[in-house]
This record gives sequence, structure tokens and C-alpha cells, in this order.
Amino acid sequence: MRRVRSFFGGIHPHDAKKRTTGTPIRELPAPDTLVVPLRQHAGLEAKPVVAKGDEVLKGQLLAEAGGAISAPVHSPVSGKVRAIEPRAHESGRSVTAIVIENDHNDTWVETKGHPDPVQLDVKAILKGIKEAGIVGMGGAGFPTAVKLSPPKGTTIDYLLINGCECEPYLTSDDRLMVEHAEEIILGARLMAKVLGARSILVAVEDNKPEALASLRAKAGNIEVVSVPTKYPQGGEKQLIQALTGREVRSNGLPYQVGTVVQNVGTAWAVALALRDGKPLIARVVTVTGAAIGEPQNFMAPLGTTMEYLIEAAGGFAVTPEKVVVGGPMTGGAQFDLQAPVTKTTVGVVAFGEGESRTPDSSPCIKCARCVDVCPANLLPLKLEAFGMNERWDDAHDYGALDCIECGACTYICPAKRPLLQYIRFAKMEIIARDKKPS
Ligand code: SF4
Ligand code: SF4
Repeated sequence: MRRVRSFFGGIHPHDAKKRTTGTPIRELPAPDTLVVPLRQHAGLEAKPVVAKGDEVLKGQLLAEAGGAISAPVHSPVSGKVRAIEPRAHESGRSVTAIVIENDHNDTWVETKGHPDPVQLDVKAILKGIKEAGIVGMGGAGFPTAVKLSPPKGTTIDYLLINGCECEPYLTSDDRLMVEHAEEIILGARLMAKVLGARSILVAVEDNKPEALASLRAKAGNIEVVSVPTKYPQGGEKQLIQALTGREVRSNGLPYQVGTVVQNVGTAWAVALALRDGKPLIARVVTVTGAAIGEPQNFMAPLGTTMEYLIEAAGGFAVTPEKVVVGGPMTGGAQFDLQAPVTKTTVGVVAFGEGESRTPDSSPCIKCARCVDVCPANLLPLKLEAFGMNERWDDAHDYGALDCIECGACTYICPAKRPLLQYIRFAKMEIIARDKKPS
């Protein structure tokens, strides 16, 4: 039995997962119009290869990768390209999107899968992952093929498959593990082959017994590890430390300690790409919160608007106080429900009365509770002050860039200080300043 260590800090927020954890994933019928953003991943925007008026098939390439760190996007339905224009995006900015009018014929482009893709060579697997447009589906959106290509000479000991889903309210990964364990295990084997990883560990928090059982039933010689429920257990560095005892240094990357971490959703998408020849055109999204009529998980075509998703989940039962894309700890408030589901949309949470109120903050009482919970070993109260006073050099020296933006400090602060907001601000300024030519 593997020894699981605890990482430093962390919190135990009310998880509010019960609303959707036992509800099977529902296939969401595609809407009449889909809005497919060219930016659904970290890196450069994809470049369109279709034009207004073109007929497209389901799964057809709409836009190719815009550079080495980028990913292609594909059509979630068959139909016609109505426009290529800026549209609302979950980031809050307008992003160029390809607007498809659905013909509701569901006509697929020709697909080429492989009945036993683990037999394919490494080059073919990597090519399949790249061409399917797969990116980190836990929310980061880093192109998977790039993450699976560490510098030459790197030895990867562990591929860690992250099924922690420690963010409150969300159950999309949980349901995927329960219902699609076979694909997750296959995707893990394929990625491990690419990396030459010596071992695969699948990590699941111990508040998901059904997911643990389902994965173990399909895992064969792969170790499925139950890890203690603690936020942010799913953070890459925290998971690596918990499972391997290895520490990724400040500004370091997991491959430098012989590990690569991939989300369970990413593993599922890899299996579909190689086994069935299907690109990434749909994902599981949790729609929940006290303001939602019938909270549930959908398998939603990418490009479905938030408004359509919410309607399909029974609409708003009450006027929401706030709608957040992602979870309550790391997600962003959404002001335009015309923003579509992308490859990284894990959930939509509509808070009811009293669920999200932002209380007035008071002066810091120097209690150090934010320091005690910070999994990155930072001094959040200091970083907040530096951010507030625009002291970027100090923020940098105190490790602002190591902040994983988990929000644990803000959650625990008795003075309700907007710690994460100012730390994020400082990080953005430091990154922008470092990019400027000197
Ligand atoms: S938790 Fe809040 S009040 Fe306590 S030291 Fe940190 S910022 Fe100050
Ligand atoms: S400083 Fe960053 S890493 Fe530390 S608790 Fe706050 S948000 Fe999380």
C-alpha cells in the first residue's frame, strides 16, 4: 500500500457536491447555434481553416494550432459556418469564435480509430493526441501533446492521473470516473507509453468511493490511490508531494522531478481520440448551485452557451446572486451567459441567496491563519499588501509567482481580506513587466 503524505496547509471547505454527485451524466442535445472560440487553451489562438458559408461535418477541423503551444479546434456538430467574429468568452474578454449553425443531421467526418491503440507506436499516439486538439481539461488548458514532450533526456518515473476534484460544488470528474473508468485507464496507458513512465498512479480523494471502486475495477496493474480529502489536493505540486514525496522547486516544473500530471478528463479524451478517432468536441460540465432548478452533469458539445446549459438544467429557480464559471474557489464570475462551454469549462455554479455574498473586509489582525493554510508556503498577508501598494519587486521576491491561486488564504481570513485578488493582480503585473523588452 502506497504511503500518502499530506501537503503543507490546505483547508476543508463545505464541498456542496451532494446536489450532483449521484446524478448520471446527461447527454445534452446540441443547440441550433454553437459558438466555438479559437482560444480554448493556453498559448496561441488557433487559426481558422474554414470561411463563412462553408458546410462543415461533425469533428471536422475548424482551426489549426496557431503555434508550438496551441491546439486545433473542431466542429462539435455538422452544419454551416455562419460567422467568424468576436464573441463573449468565459475569460470576460471577447474572443474570435467560429459560429456554426447546426443542421441537426449529426453527420460525422470520416474517423479513423484503432481497436487496441496501446499497440500504436509513440509517434502515432502523440500525433493522434495533438491532432485531436486535446488540452488539460482540469481547467489549465495546456496542450497535452506539449506536456507529454518533456526535454530530451528527461526520465519520467511517474504519470499521475488527477481525479481529486477537490474544488467544492463540482462533480464532473467524479461522474466521469464512475461512468468512464475504462476510457480513463486506457488514456492513462497511452500517455504513459508516450512518456516512457515507469509507473502510473491514479489519485482520487476519499470522498468519492464510487469513483475509486469503478477505476479499481478497470485498473489492472495500475495503482488507484485514495488520498485524503483536503483542498487543494488536486494542485499539481501538492499531488506530486502527496504521492511521491518529491517537491517541485519554486518556478520549477513537474518533469524536473520525474513526474507528469494529467487530469482524468484529459485521459478520457486521449482514449476517445486514439480508440475511436474522435477529436475533443464535448466535455462533462457540472451545472449546479442553489439558484439552479435541477443541478446536474451534462456531456455538453463545446460551443454551447452557458444560457442554454442553465436552461437545460431547469433554468434559474431563483435570481442568482452570482454565476461563476469553474468552482467557487478558483472560478471567475460570469457576466455574459452567451459565453460558450470550452475545453476547460469544468462547471457553472449559480449561487443562491447568501451562498456567495462578499462580506466587507476589515484590517488585517495579523493572526497568520492565511500563512498556516497556504500550500505554497507563502505569506499571503504580505503579498496582498505588496499588490495593493504596487510594490512589484517585493511581491516577486516574496514568491508571488509561486501562488497557485487556490484561494485558501481568502477563504480562511477572519478579516475577509481580498488576498487572492491582490496577489493575482501582482502576478499579472510581474509577468507583464517581465515580458516588456528592457
Ligand atoms: S488571515 Fe487575514 S487577518 Fe489573519 S493574518 Fe492573514 S490577512 Fe491578516
Ligand atoms: S497565497 Fe496563493 S497559494 Fe497561498 S493560499 Fe493564497 S491563493 Fe493559495
